[in-house]
Amino acid sequence: MSINFAWDAEQLAFRQSVVDFAQQELNHDLIEKDKSSQFDRVAWNKCAEFGILGWSIPQEYGGQGNDPLTVILGLEGLGYGCRDNGLVFAINNHLWSCVVSILNFGTQAQKQKYLPALCEGKSIGGQALTEPDSGSAAFDMKTEAVRHEDYYILNGTKTFVSSAPVADVYIAFARTNPDLDIQKGISTFIIDKNLPGLTIEKELSLSGLRTSPMGELVFQDCKVSIDRCLGKEGQGYNIFQSTIGWERSFLFASHVGIMERILEKCVKYARKRRQFGQHIGSFQAVSHKIAEMKMRLELAKLMIYKIGWLKKEGKRAFLESSISKIFISEGLVKTCRDAIQIHGARGYITDYELERELRDSIAGTIYAGTSEIHRGIIATLLGL
Ligand SMILES: Cc1cc2nc3c(=O)[nH]c(=O)nc-3n(C[C@H](O)[C@H](O)[C@H](O)COP(=O)(O)OP(=O)(O)OC[C@H]3O[C@@H](n4cnc5c(N)ncnc54)[C@H](O)[C@@H]3O)c2cc1C
Repeated sequence: MSINFAWDAEQLAFRQSVVDFAQQELNHDLIEKDKSSQFDRVAWNKCAEFGILGWSIPQEYGGQGNDPLTVILGLEGLGYGCRDNGLVFAINNHLWSCVVSILNFGTQAQKQKYLPALCEGKSIGGQALTEPDSGSAAFDMKTEAVRHEDYYILNGTKTFVSSAPVADVYIAFARTNPDLDIQKGISTFIIDKNLPGLTIEKELSLSGLRTSPMGELVFQDCKVSIDRCLGKEGQGYNIFQSTIGWERSFLFASHVGIMERILEKCVKYARKRRQFGQHIGSFQAVSHKIAEMKMRLELAKLMIYKIGWLKKEGKRAFLESSISKIFISEGLVKTCRDAIQIHGARGYITDYELERELRDSIAGTIYAGTSEIHRGIIATLLGL
């Protein structure tokens, strides 16, 4: 078997079409939207029309049926072209936390009911796992689903749920048998937003990704029929491991695009801005920061493309996705900090959009498993 690092002409044309679309359609009024924490439903609908919300979903369910490598290239183009990082995050959250879970674990009826609307942008998806007392230790959850004849009664609170205030469908996790260990005692449910007994509470105010709204889901004697159980009862742990595997693998492809966009902005500025009679790029202290941005970008691409290839081959990318998740999320924060430094005071003011990039980037080291948790996973896989 050979390794081929070249994209074909069709794939490159696809990436370019995503960049053109995003630059033309998704970058309006960004500073205002960030200030007012405004989710852009119009942009969301445009992404749906372009096909983005169904990129990884087979055509029979309303998607585009793209292979994993092409999806990675598309997400990279989206991150590069769309400066609304909150929108890009919300799209990834929708795709990997909700849509793919229904595709992989849903019954035929569930897939037919939910996937076309999710791909068409009529319906927004989210995932409700984290609770006030269970973050990294997500499966120490308290939310319970008690089985009655043909329904469950859910009680509990889910927090930090991305898109909660705007979503229509949530993939939620609850304990169905407190006597069993987490690998058998937790189940997954497809929850419609209008269920009696479910309230979407307090939109949380965020430091970054402010255009991707966040909130809490409170279940109070919420009746959920058994046909909303995703997978089998007790399969929640496995469903989550599969879902988070996709999210950790693909979401960060968009970060690679963001890294490239910021690198180009810095090169342009360092060539233009003059101090002491020279371009600031001629000072080694500046040019080396940019060289390191380029090194991080190229290494990030290698890692994320390898993950796309593994997924295309139908293999797991458990170790690889932890490594790339840490490297890319922390690398993006470093790139954003250095970009601000290179731009001096301009980097610090809102209009140059770099302080927003930094605020947006920090979340990537927390969601989808913190950097510390992923270092722990890598160490465990090394037998430590
Ligand atoms: C922007 C954003 C979007 C999110 N979206 C969602 C969503 O849609 N749905 C959802 O369910 N959740 C979501 N979350 C929540 C996210 O999954 C949790 O924040 C994350 O799992 C960490 O949990 P925590 O915040 O409670 O931190 P904690 O688990 O309390 O951790 C606090 C600190 O302790 C460290 N720590 C904890 N345990 C260990 C350990 N064993 N070893 C070493 N260090 C450790 C952590 O790394 C961290 O530094 C989102 C979070 C963010 C920031």
